[in-house]
Amino acid sequence: MLLPQAKEVKLNGSGVSSNNNNKMALGKSIKMYLTIFVATTCVYMVLYQYHMSRQPLATNEVIKHTDKSSSSPLSSSFIASYLWSPAANVNTTAMGQGQGEGQRQRQRQRQGQGPIQLHAPNATDIATSTSASMAASAMSFLSTVSLPLTLSSSSSSSSSSSDAKSIITRTTTTRTAPALTSTTTTAATTTTSTTRTTTTTTRTTQKRLVTSGHAQNAMGKADGGVAHKTRSTFIAVSKPPPLYIITPTYRRPEQLAELTRLGYTLKHVLNLLWLVIEDANRTNPLVAHTLDRIGVPYEYLVAPMPEQYKLTKRAKPRGVSNRNRGLDYLRANATEGVLYFADDDNTYDINIFEQMRYTKKVSMWPVGLVTKTGVSSPIIREGKLEGYYDGWIGGRKYPVDMAGFAVSVKFLHERPQAKMPFKPGYEEDGFLRSLAPLDNAEIELLADECREILTWHTQTKKNSPALPLNMTRYGHTNLAFIEKLLVRP
Ligand code: UDP
Ligand code: MN
Repeated sequence: MLLPQAKEVKLNGSGVSSNNNNKMALGKSIKMYLTIFVATTCVYMVLYQYHMSRQPLATNEVIKHTDKSSSSPLSSSFIASYLWSPAANVNTTAMGQGQGEGQRQRQRQRQGQGPIQLHAPNATDIATSTSASMAASAMSFLSTVSLPLTLSSSSSSSSSSSDAKSIITRTTTTRTAPALTSTTTTAATTTTSTTRTTTTTTRTTQKRLVTSGHAQNAMGKADGGVAHKTRSTFIAVSKPPPLYIITPTYRRPEQLAELTRLGYTLKHVLNLLWLVIEDANRTNPLVAHTLDRIGVPYEYLVAPMPEQYKLTKRAKPRGVSNRNRGLDYLRANATEGVLYFADDDNTYDINIFEQMRYTKKVSMWPVGLVTKTGVSSPIIREGKLEGYYDGWIGGRKYPVDMAGFAVSVKFLHERPQAKMPFKPGYEEDGFLRSLAPLDNAEIELLADECREILTWHTQTKKNSPALPLNMTRYGHTNLAFIEKLLVRP
C-alpha cells in the first residue's frame, strides 16, 4: 500500500525533497502502526487482568508449604516451612508498622511535640478485647494492614468444604491524641470453617486475601459501604490444631528480655496464641509495646497473686494465679487445640510445639536442668510409662516440671473443675491430679518417647535494678529515652 504511493511521488516530484517526503510518510505510518499495536496490547492486558481477578483461587496457591518429602508432620522441612509461612508476612507487616510508629514518635520529639505515650489497655479494655468476637478481630486486623495507596474490593466468596482450620490474626493499633494506645491482640482461632471462604483481590496487584467469612462480614462493616483503602494481605490457613501458650510473667529488670527471647521462639510456630499473663493489677505499656514489636499473636492479661501469698515469708506459689487465669480464658474462648504452660524464663526447642499440638489428652516429655539430677522425665520401659525421674518426688503422683507436659483443650473442657493449686512445689502435681480421671496409659510420650530433651528449665541471673539517670547531665540525650524503657522491680 505504501510502495505505489511512494513511487508516484518519486515519478511526479523531482530531486531530494520528494525522497524525504517518502521517508516521512513511511515513518508516520510505522508510528501509527506501533501506536495501534501498543494500544491494542494494553486493552488486552487490562481485560486479562480483570478476567484473572474474577477467577477463584486454586488450593495449591493457598497452602504452598506442604511437605512433599515426608508424610510425617514432624519432619524438619515441615517445620522449616513455617519460617516462610504467610503468617510470618502478616507479622512482618505489623512489625514494620510498629517501627514506622517509632520513627513518627522520634519525629514528634524533634518537632518539640513531646513524646506520644504508650499505654496499655486497662483491665476493662482487656476484658472487652478478650471477649471480642471473631468479627471484631478480623475488622481490626484489616485496620492494621491498611495502606493509603491500594484499594480493596471485596469480591464474591467461594466456599469449599475442606476441614482445614484457619487462623485469624488481629492486630489493633488505636491511636488517640495525644496518647497512643497500642494493643496488639491476636486470636488463633479454630473455625471448623473452610480452607478458603473468601477471596479478595486488590485491583492493583491481583494478590488474593484469604480470610474467613467473619472477616468478610467485618470488612463489610468496617467499610461502612465506603471504599476502604486496604493492602491485600494474607491470613494464614493451616491444618495443624491451634496451640495456646500460657506464659506467666511479672515485673522485674529481666522481664522484657525474657519475653523477647521467648516471643521470637514462638514466632516460629504457626497457629499459636500466646497468652501472656502478668502477676500485677494492671498491664504495663512496656510489655504491651514489646509484644507488639515481636508480632506473635497474643492476649495480654493480668492476674495478681492473692495478697495472702505475696506477704508470706515462705515459698510463694509463683505464676499460679496467672496460669489459672489462662485456663479461664481457654474455657471462655477456645474449643479445641492444646494448652501448654511456658514460663517466660525457660528454653524451648520449637520441635516440641509441633509434637504437642496433636495431644489427645495429656502428653509428657523430659525437661532439662531440673534439680541436681539435671533432668526431670517420665521413665519409659518397653514403651510404657513406668514412673517419674525427678530430683524431688515429695509424695507427688506426677513429679514433673511445668515445662514437661501439655493438655488438650477439649480434655480441659471435660474437666471444668481442673485448676492449679496455690501450693508451692505441688503446682504441676495438683493441676494434673485435677484432670482425673487420667490413666497412665493415656499419657502420650513425646520427644522420641522421652529420649530427647527439647525443653529446659533455665533460670536467669537476677539483675539489680538500674540506678536513676542523672538528668542534669543526660536529660537532653538519647539516654532519657532509654531510661523510660527500663523495668524496675
Ligand atoms: N512469676 C510470677 N510471679 C512471681 C514470680 C514468678 O508470675 O511473683 C512467673 C514467672 O514469670 C515465671 C513463672 O511464674 O513465668 C515461674 O516463676 P520462676 O521462674 O521465678 O520460678 P522457678 O522457675 O524458679 O520455679
Ligand atoms: Mn523459672
